[in-house]
Amino acid sequence: MVIEYTGNKLPGKTQFSGRRRTTTRKSGFSSHENSTGGEYKIENQDTYILEKGECLSLIFNIPDHNPDDLVAFGGWYFSDHFLDINIELGGFTKKTLTDWKEGNWAKFGSMGFSSTKENIPWTRISFKALEDTKISFYDIGCGIVAHKHIDAAKANPDKKHLLNNMYQFAPEANFYVTEGEVSIVINDDRNLELESTKPTSIYLKSCNRCARFLPINIKDERYHLSFSSHCVANAPCTHTGFGKLKNIQDETYLNLHHGFQLECRYCKKFEVNAAHNPQRTADQMKEDGTRRRHFELLLTHLFKGSPQLNYRKENPGKELTTDIWEKFGKKCFKCQADIPSAREMNLDHTRPLALLWPLDKTATCLCKGCNSQKRDRPPSEYYAENEIEKLSVITGISIEDLNNPGPNLIAVNKLVSDLDWLILEFCHKPELAKERDGKLTAELFLKALQKTLNKTELGQVYDLLKIYNQKNAAK
Ligand SMILES: [Zn+2]
Ligand SMILES: [Zn+2]
Ligand SMILES: [Zn+2]
Repeated sequence: MVIEYTGNKLPGKTQFSGRRRTTTRKSGFSSHENSTGGEYKIENQDTYILEKGECLSLIFNIPDHNPDDLVAFGGWYFSDHFLDINIELGGFTKKTLTDWKEGNWAKFGSMGFSSTKENIPWTRISFKALEDTKISFYDIGCGIVAHKHIDAAKANPDKKHLLNNMYQFAPEANFYVTEGEVSIVINDDRNLELESTKPTSIYLKSCNRCARFLPINIKDERYHLSFSSHCVANAPCTHTGFGKLKNIQDETYLNLHHGFQLECRYCKKFEVNAAHNPQRTADQMKEDGTRRRHFELLLTHLFKGSPQLNYRKENPGKELTTDIWEKFGKKCFKCQADIPSAREMNLDHTRPLALLWPLDKTATCLCKGCNSQKRDRPPSEYYAENEIEKLSVITGISIEDLNNPGPNLIAVNKLVSDLDWLILEFCHKPELAKERDGKLTAELFLKALQKTLNKTELGQVYDLLKIYNQKNAAK
């Protein structure tokens, strides 16, 4: 079990003073019996006014529980201006916090299996107003979480991997069985001022699997909260139920541009993806690892040295790993977990190794868990739209290239100018000469390489397997 709520560290140093008010959760997840995923409704939430300089904090008190229980906190917020947000995680090690985007709701929270029995102070999110700001909340809560899919995954060794990184499903998978107390604190003991004239509306869409209504953004649909987009390249989405939603309150219809998936992110993971993509077997994992190693070796030859060595050559006195670790603020880019030393970081290629991108100054700093989740997937399949934007700023790779990475043309050109070496030397290394299920490892490797070549014009010119067979026959 991956522990992501831990009591093994010192409690926060700051003693908290200030008057607390306890909130009661008003909404809770409501569900609808015959959900097709194509229904929506609009709910109005109270709007509070924060004056410039004021700070509103939500404090989450995780109830007493048993070690190994899943605990969580989180919720959604909307503000009409950018706020200075600070999250203290208490016992949680990872968090979800989407960026503020004007006119859209954002979400925050975390979830993790606990190593302890009680609340670890402080789990707190603070919103500081940089100018007079209106703020609203939806479904703020904390507590012990349980759900049939989580229990099933816990009991099944083949499904346990689904429970890594549950923080990514907070707050929408915060199925509380025991709720903890949430306090609202505002500085200077001022009473919260309720905006009397105008509540804030939130759009909630049904999931065809769990039948819950969960938040969506209408202003920027791709800034999604609980459901992934339906038609991205093929927008507008004209699919009924996806791009055309029915209002269950007044039976009118809402036309969306991209539309949303029928199932929520949580149901998609536990019901759809888990059923279609059983965990890769140990053998497949080993094969993946071997292929990666061969690609790394190939690149080391093509670029005449390891990534670390080449980086040192170009940047005397500098180390690739240390520089990347520092550039990413000593945190995992995906889950924002602190990474205590450069040695504990996992360097990710950012663009796929299979497309011949070496580790270099464009690498991404990830924790072990996130790196093994990402594997060799391209960035667009692992990161959300706003994360891609951030990654582009940090790495200097354009958003277009991150969304649709092409092969590394420098490496491809070096490769085809060194074919004799590839075929006559590299492919005859002892580990590539091994046979597996009647297939030569070298041939499998060349096939993978050909796929990359085929993404360039050179794919028409070179047939690596053919060249391999010819050269070896001639030898
Ligand atoms: Zn669902
Ligand atoms: Zn569609
Ligand atoms: Zn991570």
